[in-house]
Amino acid sequence: MMQLTMYIDGKWKNPSKDNKRDIINPANGEVIAEAAEGTAEDAKEAISQAKRAFQDGEWPEMAPAERAEYLYRIAAKLDENHDELTRLETLDNGKTHTEASFDVTEAADCFRYYAGLIRAPEGQAVDAPESTHTMVVHEPVGVCGLIVPWNFPLLMSVWKMAPALAAGNTVILKPSEITPVTAVKLFEIFDEAGLPDGVANLLLGHGAVVGNELATSHDVDKISFTGGTETGRAIMKSAAGNLKKISLELGGKSPNIVFQDADLDTAVDHALFGIYFGAGQVCSSGSRILVEESIHDVFVERFAERAKKITVGPGSDPASEMGPLVSEDHMNKVLSYIAKGKEEGANLVCGGNRVQTGALKDGYFVEPTAFTDTTETMRIVQEEIFGPVAVFQTFKDEQDAIRVANNTDYGLAGSVFTQDSAKALRVIKKVRAGITWVNTYHTNFNDFPWGGYKQSGIGRGLGKYGLEEFQEVKQININL
Ligand code: NAD
Repeated sequence: MMQLTMYIDGKWKNPSKDNKRDIINPANGEVIAEAAEGTAEDAKEAISQAKRAFQDGEWPEMAPAERAEYLYRIAAKLDENHDELTRLETLDNGKTHTEASFDVTEAADCFRYYAGLIRAPEGQAVDAPESTHTMVVHEPVGVCGLIVPWNFPLLMSVWKMAPALAAGNTVILKPSEITPVTAVKLFEIFDEAGLPDGVANLLLGHGAVVGNELATSHDVDKISFTGGTETGRAIMKSAAGNLKKISLELGGKSPNIVFQDADLDTAVDHALFGIYFGAGQVCSSGSRILVEESIHDVFVERFAERAKKITVGPGSDPASEMGPLVSEDHMNKVLSYIAKGKEEGANLVCGGNRVQTGALKDGYFVEPTAFTDTTETMRIVQEEIFGPVAVFQTFKDEQDAIRVANNTDYGLAGSVFTQDSAKALRVIKKVRAGITWVNTYHTNFNDFPWGGYKQSGIGRGLGKYGLEEFQEVKQININL
């Protein structure tokens, strides 16, 4: 069985108390690893080593081109370990082999992207009034706590690690206690790549213990968090003590708007992918499908017919199109939302049950599920279920579509399906969300900003915006 330990100041480290946590394969409920359960003392040590490495170490002072070489080396090692990382991600999180393989490819690309970007610095040098000459430069923020969720364990870690390291910060990564396996593998790669001691540290353990220590510590300059909106709110409060910088990438309840003039084949394909990719455990899932009244029935019929044919099974089986939910607790939460939908009077058009046939009997599988006849105030319409549960809504015309789409506290993602380009642009510009699509869903690139409006977060990851989240900006005025 795998033994997972922390990595602090360039050394593998067991926790200060001998606490362990079982890590479970969600496809069959078996224990696959024992993970160290870090304590607040461990978190303090990681913070102090990261602080030392920032204040006295070579990393922040290194030429960007030299830091970039480390990042390229890490990317190459991610490629070399592609198959093993894919296997481990499927084992730990449950996602299909195809989904996990995509994450590993994107992770390597993300390191290459930021290695390139840090070599193309932005700044200003201008003659200012009163004979001064002014320079505007970017500097690292300092010690960064990076807290990530369980749905993309490797990729979410890399989306933060790559820009934070490129910018010259020292970091402490805190993966989800449910899915720490690929984070440990990532740190083996950092170790092989020879990152200086203390630059990248790994804490394992519970959010309320080690995560909270990162959020409250006065020696942490920045928290970059991805996870649930309620946790984001708690972190914001904890971070207020030393007014540390925060970036929050939170939940969503994203609208997928289908007009009557859409290409129906394309719209049905993407609506299915929008909600059932990752078994719906994706922050940007198209979990609300808004269909123009005149095509509602035909659209729902085609969607449900296809949803019933999706092959649910272990991610390790190439025939599986949708894997299990990440844990028993999370499966029970999703099933309770399905029960709530029925109680609220919504109409179940497909799915609704746990799948326990044959080899799936001990896994946390739930059928692809969809509800129609919803109202805008139902809990299944307003709250993030984070599972394979689509809710259909209807609208009368363009204005009504925009109103229904924006009737949510969230603002992460959204899409529009229509063959009328002018309408597509008019509507997508009115959708209050940070990540949007026209006639497609879930396409994403490391080059462009990722993040939400409203209660879906603060700040942006990825692209040049993702680098700026890990930089301070300084003006230097010189009297010539
Ligand atoms: P979560 O909020 O429960 O946990 C996320 C991380 O925060 C974990 O590492 C956890 O240990 C830690 N944590 C928990 N309590 C903490 C505390 N008090 N202080 C510091 N850290 C704490 O989220 P989850 O259940 O792991 O992930 C699912 C959520 O993540 C969903 O809401 C989803 O929408 C969101 N998400 C958002 C994005 C995005 O880019 N916007 C991406 C992926 C997931």
